[in-house]
Amino acid sequence: MDDAKPMLIGGEWKSGSGETFDSQNPATGIINYHVCAASAQDVDLTVAIAERAANESTWRQMLPHARARLLSKLADVIESRVDDFAQAQMRENGKVLRECRAQAGSAAAIFRYYAAVCETVEDALTPSRGDYFSMRVHEPYGVVAAITPWNSPLTMEAQKVAPALAAGNAVILKPSEITPSPGLELGKAALAAGFPHGILNVLPGTGSVAGAALVAHPGVGFVSFTGGTASGRRIASVAADKLMPVALELGGKSPHIVFADANLDAAVNAVADGIFEASGQSCVAGSRLFVQRSVHERVLAGIVERARALKIGLPDSPGAQFGPISSFAHRDRIARFVDTARDEGGEVATGGQRPDDSRLAAGAYYLPTVVTGLANTSSVCQQEIFGPVLCVLPFDDEDDLVQQANDSAYGLAAGLWTADYQRAWRVARRLDAGTVWINTYKQLSISTPFGGFKDSGLGREKGISGLRLYQQEKGLYFGLNG
Ligand code: NAD
Repeated sequence: MDDAKPMLIGGEWKSGSGETFDSQNPATGIINYHVCAASAQDVDLTVAIAERAANESTWRQMLPHARARLLSKLADVIESRVDDFAQAQMRENGKVLRECRAQAGSAAAIFRYYAAVCETVEDALTPSRGDYFSMRVHEPYGVVAAITPWNSPLTMEAQKVAPALAAGNAVILKPSEITPSPGLELGKAALAAGFPHGILNVLPGTGSVAGAALVAHPGVGFVSFTGGTASGRRIASVAADKLMPVALELGGKSPHIVFADANLDAAVNAVADGIFEASGQSCVAGSRLFVQRSVHERVLAGIVERARALKIGLPDSPGAQFGPISSFAHRDRIARFVDTARDEGGEVATGGQRPDDSRLAAGAYYLPTVVTGLANTSSVCQQEIFGPVLCVLPFDDEDDLVQQANDSAYGLAAGLWTADYQRAWRVARRLDAGTVWINTYKQLSISTPFGGFKDSGLGREKGISGLRLYQQEKGLYFGLNG
């Protein structure tokens, strides 16, 4: 289709040889535009270009301070276009504009952080055992494929692309078919910042065609994936055949825990934000709430009140706190989970349906929902819903809590509220989770490692080690005796 948004290959905007797909605004149901989807041939062409670009001396031998300057320039370009980035995401996944703007600002900050890491990170001399000196140095993989989901492309794409570029690789970004535009905006910004052509390529398309072709391609040396656990497993099995390393940031079913001695007002606010922000479509959403039995009713009442008070609206309407689900198909999937909760004997304390508001009727809306009366072993407490559905469960003591909280295939994050710091330490260490928040929730810092235990993934992003993720270590020996 002539008017479809093109992809970025080797510094040029191309239509490619694949089909096109529709981008739909989930708040209104209106088709935003059509987008070119990369075919397997487009992937072949792009990998060849990226391999050449990665090996050219302009990139391979670029000194760290010069690479850092480019990353920093890219941060400037993003900052100067925060609204374009924010609108691009909001139109496609329906996240409220205020949050999209904040995420666009974070994307710029991530590029700035990795500019600083790139310029300051050091190789090392290793202790010598003879007449030589030896070093540990780090080399890029060459071509890195970054494959991303639809819920927060602005930050998730920055979180992969910035360290992979800082590490000296060429990158092919394959954004979700639901949110192709933030990645295309990033490609545009990289061109404006002056990156050599072919160093950042952006290939929208489906997971089964473009994503699968990238993962299987012999020219791709590393895959950094964020998405569902089933897709992650498929990617890991292809990578095993190629003996290719992968980083996998996958799903979650995070426990949020409130002990009776906690500051209950603060806990109630954090629990509500932790599940209802982004309409629950966050990998770290605290979707299982465990409350000590003596305060269960009080905390439940507080959460229900907060859920009912949320201002639901079009994502760019003033004061909107809760937007649509990112697609109609996903909204229907969430509704089916709530039906299952009812079938399994759960009680819906609030929500459990679409909003009764004619202004929202054309969008993919679903009310903030709180379910009680289910056991942690029920399918609704075990499976990732990825929507605004909170299951509330009582617990008796620490051992009972830890057993229930860890009884999950996932291990991405957890939150706990208590005034007893010794208990906080004990429980935080016993929880199977890559991130544990204590008396706070969903704080995220680019300098702190992030990743999952168990089915929530492999590898850690962010921080200085987030740059090392995209490099391989090499030992060097210099003889000193002839
Ligand atoms: P998804 O797995 O369906 O898709 C993610 C991306 O992978 C998309 O770009 C898709 O096109 C691509 N893809 C799908 N199958 C592929 C394959 N076989 N080979 C290569 N690429 C493939 O996930 P989604 O529905 O877009 O996102 C929601 C999921 O992402 C949830 O499970 C959520 O928990 C998870 N997520 C995890 C994190 C984290 O950091 N752990 C962050 C955000 C989202």
